[in-house]
Amino acid sequence: MTTLHGSIDTPCFMPVGTHATIKGLYPKDVEEAGAQIMLSNTYHLFLRPGMEVIRKAGGLHKFISWKKPILTDSGGYQVFSLALLRKLNDKGVEFQSHIDGSKHLFTPESIIDIQRDLGSDIMMPLDECVHYPCTKDHAEVAMKRTINWAKRSYKHKNEHHGVNPARGQLLFGIVQGATYEGLRNICAKELVDIDFDGFAIGGVSVGEPSNLIYNILRITALVLPVEKPRYAMGIGYPPDILEAIERGIDMFDCVVPTRYGRTGTAFTSLGKVTIRNSPYTEDFRSLDARCSCYTCSNFSRAYLRHLFNAQEMLGLTLLSLHNIYFFLDLTRKAREAIKNNQFSEFKKEFLENYNNSSCV
Ligand SMILES: [Zn+2]
Repeated sequence: MTTLHGSIDTPCFMPVGTHATIKGLYPKDVEEAGAQIMLSNTYHLFLRPGMEVIRKAGGLHKFISWKKPILTDSGGYQVFSLALLRKLNDKGVEFQSHIDGSKHLFTPESIIDIQRDLGSDIMMPLDECVHYPCTKDHAEVAMKRTINWAKRSYKHKNEHHGVNPARGQLLFGIVQGATYEGLRNICAKELVDIDFDGFAIGGVSVGEPSNLIYNILRITALVLPVEKPRYAMGIGYPPDILEAIERGIDMFDCVVPTRYGRTGTAFTSLGKVTIRNSPYTEDFRSLDARCSCYTCSNFSRAYLRHLFNAQEMLGLTLLSLHNIYFFLDLTRKAREAIKNNQFSEFKKEFLENYNNSSCV
């Protein structure tokens, strides 16, 4: 995939910088770990520091000193999960900030303008997310509104920003439709008729069982054009990522590497390691013998456990760094396996080791 700030190999994992930072890590370390793109949140940046500051800084890349591509979400998910007192209609969504209670309106058009000013390499249109479980009637209303908003977003971008080809920001469509195959199908088909640069599958991993997630990814990917990237929003844990790749998904984002890293859990090739546990007190092995990240190349489990028990900042940084590397390395290895036509074998071996936690 080619963007203004460089090309991206797929399938790829995108570290999440909710407040325009990958928590606890230097941007250079995230880049050295293999990140080709990062994700940031329109809703959060719009509220704090606000668009005035980011415009004056010269855009998000300059503000945060990140030279590689940035994908920004539309803020829709946060409006539905975080904001206070939402009022939703076909025009857009009115909400109160979860930070200070101030009132705002997001429309499909204003969300495109905000992402233009952020300078996002990949923009997402405003969409309506529903919770799980959700009735079919409600899911259908939200799906139709999402299509309508997608059309308005596309039109607005082309009419107002399309005149300068140098801008070259990409815009994806987002497929909604909850767990209903028929709705997902209709939504995907309608969006494919609009010439989006790629397609996201939204409203997955919102509490539904794994088999429902995999099924929705599979049937939606079948409708989407093979030559354009497909992005499964908010997915997921390492096994989910491999299952999704097998079903034709190219892009992933998830907060778990840094969230788990901060609370003392490492993802390893032999499953999860909770570093505070007493068996690691005198365990001088690295976190993961198969990992070549900075943490695994230099530090023992015993030292990492000590850092967490002493509440030292370095502990959460080293664990977050390893976790980010682990997720990036997983997609890097998946790319290699696909090239060598060995993805099924790679997935099988990875899952056998990963699920065999007795080895840790
Ligand atoms: Zn490591």
